[in-house]
Amino acid sequence: MKGEIFMKIGFIGIGIMGKPMVKNLLEAGKSVVAFDIVEKALEEALQAGAEKGSSPEDVAGKTDVIITMLPNSPHVREVICGEKGILEALTPGKIVVDMSSIAPITSRELCALVEEKGADMLDAPVSGGQEKAEKGTLAIMVGGKESAYRKVKDILDLLGKSTLVGESGAGQVTKLVNQTIVGVNIAAVAEGMAFAKRAGVDPQRVFQAIRGGLAGSQCLEDKAPRMFEERYDPGFRINLHIKDLNNVLETGRGLHVSMPLTAAVMEMMQNLAARGFEGLDHGSLGKYYELINNVSLKR
Ligand code: NAD
Repeated sequence: MKGEIFMKIGFIGIGIMGKPMVKNLLEAGKSVVAFDIVEKALEEALQAGAEKGSSPEDVAGKTDVIITMLPNSPHVREVICGEKGILEALTPGKIVVDMSSIAPITSRELCALVEEKGADMLDAPVSGGQEKAEKGTLAIMVGGKESAYRKVKDILDLLGKSTLVGESGAGQVTKLVNQTIVGVNIAAVAEGMAFAKRAGVDPQRVFQAIRGGLAGSQCLEDKAPRMFEERYDPGFRINLHIKDLNNVLETGRGLHVSMPLTAAVMEMMQNLAARGFEGLDHGSLGKYYELINNVSLKR
């Protein structure tokens, strides 16, 4: 492996998150080979100085560290194991860093296949959304070998703050914990505010009264004002949160973990999606409570 400063980076999946992440790497002087199945998605990255890759195999052949930022498990599996996939060009010493949010079991399976090639794989999903991707301040939850983590930490530092939480799959488990806590927390905020309104107390005043106490949270701070304004532009879309909760519940079922709160929030999000709101911010759980209680949270 070359010294870290000379590491060439591959980046596959140049979407909402991938785009600003590639820009941050380029701005820090890194050399990046980028690939996306949607040609148009690549435009901004190429303009910012990335080199164009022709397939995941091509990207993996030309680079030392291959970052993937794709929607879900099937996409990551396709990019790693599919035709012209990363595995075709992996050689010992290369490191795959999957920053997508996917099922932990898939992460572990793919890691084993990568290791058969003498290479390493880290799962490194993120929290923070587009804004923190742009600022380079994502929270990055890493699973995998510490030796591989140490080699790529300088690169991850350009994207946010990373924490090694355990072995392969541990990063994805951590991300799912995050998604469960956030989903349940937003639903609790919406439920409490709908109750306040029906009980004849202004939810905005309730918010001011309780935000400094034990009910205070980042979710309350970020989502309650959105609910009061019915401002549900994303943000983090309902359909992505459904994808993550599906991974939580599938993983939980496989382990016989009882997760009644996550299951309830999943139903609420499915109800919103069935009404055509899957593209709204997950703060639109406020809208769900407005609909089922025939109440408006708007001031
Ligand atoms: P996105 O849909 O905007 O981007 C995904 C990109 O992957 C697209 O450009 C798509 O064309 C590309 N892609 C799909 N299949 C491909 C393939 N086979 N080969 C090459 N490219 C392919 O998604 P996003 O919002 O950037 O999210 C990426 C991941 O990050 C998801 O797992 C998401 O859950 C997670 N995440 C997103 C946010 C957010 O706020 N958007 C926040 C935290 C985590």
